[in-house]
Amino acid sequence: MKLIELPNLSSKRLQALQKSGIHTPNDLLMLFPRRYIDKSVVKPIAFLTEGTGPVTVTGKVISKNVIGFKQKKRLEVIIQDKTGSLKAVFFKGWRYFITQFTENNWVALYGPVKRYGNYYSMAHPEVDPIESPDDVKKYDTLIPIYPGNKHFSKAYITNSIIKDWITQILSGKEIPEFLPRDVLSRHNFPERKDALNIIHQPVSLKDAQTALERFKYEEFFLFELSMASIKKQRTERAKGKMLKPGKYTSTFFNEVLPFTLTDGQKHALSDIRTDLQSGNQMNRLIQGDVGAGKTVVAIGAMLMAIDNGMQAALMAPTEILAEQHYQTIKQYIEPLGLNFRLLTGGQKTALRRDILTDIEGGNCNIVVGTHAIFQEKVKFHNLGLAVIDEQHRFGVKQRNDVLMKGDNPHLLVMSATPIPRSLAMTIYSDLDISVITGLPAGRKPIKTAVRTDKERQKVYDFLEQSIQNGDQAYVVFPLIEESEVMDLKDATMGFEKLKRRFPDFSISLLHGRMKSDEKEQIMKRFVDGETQILVSTTVIEVGVDVPNASIMIIEHAERFGLSQLHQLRGRIGRGSKQSYCILMPDVKLSKSGRYRLKKMVDTNDGFEIAESDLKLRGPGDFLGTKQSGLPEFRHGDIVEDRLLLEQSKNDAWNIIKTDPGLEKTEHKELKKVFEPYFKERSEFFGVG
Ligand code: ADP
Ligand code: MG
Repeated sequence: MKLIELPNLSSKRLQALQKSGIHTPNDLLMLFPRRYIDKSVVKPIAFLTEGTGPVTVTGKVISKNVIGFKQKKRLEVIIQDKTGSLKAVFFKGWRYFITQFTENNWVALYGPVKRYGNYYSMAHPEVDPIESPDDVKKYDTLIPIYPGNKHFSKAYITNSIIKDWITQILSGKEIPEFLPRDVLSRHNFPERKDALNIIHQPVSLKDAQTALERFKYEEFFLFELSMASIKKQRTERAKGKMLKPGKYTSTFFNEVLPFTLTDGQKHALSDIRTDLQSGNQMNRLIQGDVGAGKTVVAIGAMLMAIDNGMQAALMAPTEILAEQHYQTIKQYIEPLGLNFRLLTGGQKTALRRDILTDIEGGNCNIVVGTHAIFQEKVKFHNLGLAVIDEQHRFGVKQRNDVLMKGDNPHLLVMSATPIPRSLAMTIYSDLDISVITGLPAGRKPIKTAVRTDKERQKVYDFLEQSIQNGDQAYVVFPLIEESEVMDLKDATMGFEKLKRRFPDFSISLLHGRMKSDEKEQIMKRFVDGETQILVSTTVIEVGVDVPNASIMIIEHAERFGLSQLHQLRGRIGRGSKQSYCILMPDVKLSKSGRYRLKKMVDTNDGFEIAESDLKLRGPGDFLGTKQSGLPEFRHGDIVEDRLLLEQSKNDAWNIIKTDPGLEKTEHKELKKVFEPYFKERSEFFGVG
């Protein structure tokens, strides 16, 4: 069946459907009702009152008249039951509605009731012709209400037209089942065809709910199937690459590293060691709150690759962070006599050519860089391990891109976004997860306070005293992309103000629009302790590590999301000193703004903050769909339907484990659906 075979489908309506992304009868079937209404409760007209919510009345058509002039014409229909009469009024589309009424026939109207003059009336009620006043048979199911849009209303595609079309399609169409039998029975899901029938014509809301679960599961399942087959392919290709830790790794941990590892760090490293020696490719996510010490773990992993004569790469989302990692690596790797290079977008051509030659020739053991590492021109001699820091800034695609840079190198990704573990396991399901719990010993919990503009003098006095005691401070201003210019003005003015207030201190301004070497220099001076106050936009949000900085003032604090505030605050509290975070909101605080600031004062625990943030914003905003490498799910919600997501993951992985090519008979229909699904999204998943 084709769309054009549907009844009442003018070319105008066909266009409206297409503009709404509906190209096939199947697309129309997947247009699910937004809600259902129960029209089976019929009220006698005499019992109506002004403002009665949507109800059904039945009556005989007494008269129908078109009144008014030109543009202002309207259709008025009077109907009557045993107890009284009611007027129905139609302004828009009256030419269509007039055909729905025949004098002396019975109709049922459904809508909210108002009183106008002598009549109770309904404006634009839903109209159903019926046989007799007691003809409630047609109301023995719930009425689906479909989501409308402006294209639909322009083409007069009403709810009942959509309903008719869908009934038509459902009655004629073969709807094959593609979920495997055992999956269906394990979860008690209705067959696809039955589920569609229930969604569009449910007898009870509970049935509709169960049917909907099936479709939520279905979309999660296809996603998890993709993740599973991506990982399976990666692992297959990389079979047999065993890396054993050797001289460099042990010298680093035993002689160079100035502190002992925390238990969390040890665990993560031991997971990595096992992966690297397993003969399979490592795909591991290290999750750890800000300041947990992930960098050292990354360095350890890279040294294991180098011990086996291979190269390693460390990728960061910003130049500042890449530069910082470069400095850290310099400190730890130089004593080992190894070579390392920094690769960023802003480097001069000659320098870059030199770096690329070094990487390709195998001279350089470790490459630290930004997205620039993904570029085609960058060729490795033998990349054995790739590390992606601050993974939440990259997607699935980047995970795969970097793997193309070598002969299936091992992959380690690190994230400080404390996504609740069960959620992480499902959305990063192509990765194994190690969590670094706990912080290095000797850290004092950061003290956080909210101060208003009135208290600014006191805040500045405190700042002055701390700096005189040898501390360093960040002053952060928000940078919201849409108003970049204005916010930059904010930061610049704040910078000038601080310089006037503290003429004796060395103060710098850092923002994203600066040239990279300028940024580098400013950052370096701060790291070296030459600058005492660093005024900055959120470019310092990720990763930056200056242990001597123990004060952070966040201006317009209410403009930041909770997780972002936590990331920012994570820049301090990295040494043994007591650190202070001072949140300075604007005077006017929204309820959610107040809640966020209070949460920050109440806890330092990243996981608790992430849970609240997730509740506050919903998964889409929280993860930022594009960044998280998550597709947009149409029916399912990765937080509310977490359980279904988890189940779909387990099922999908079991299938891919035993039947990776979906060749078995019981997976024949699944393969037919999965292949085009995966192909359509190959760009998104970064494959093919
Ligand atoms: P993050 O997990 O946020 O990336 P970093 O790797 O930047 O954290 O580490 C934060 C700080 O803690 C760094 O200054 C680092 O040198 C220090 N550090 C890391 N591990 C330990 C440890 N086991 N003991 C003491 N200090 C540590
Ligand atoms: Mg880090």
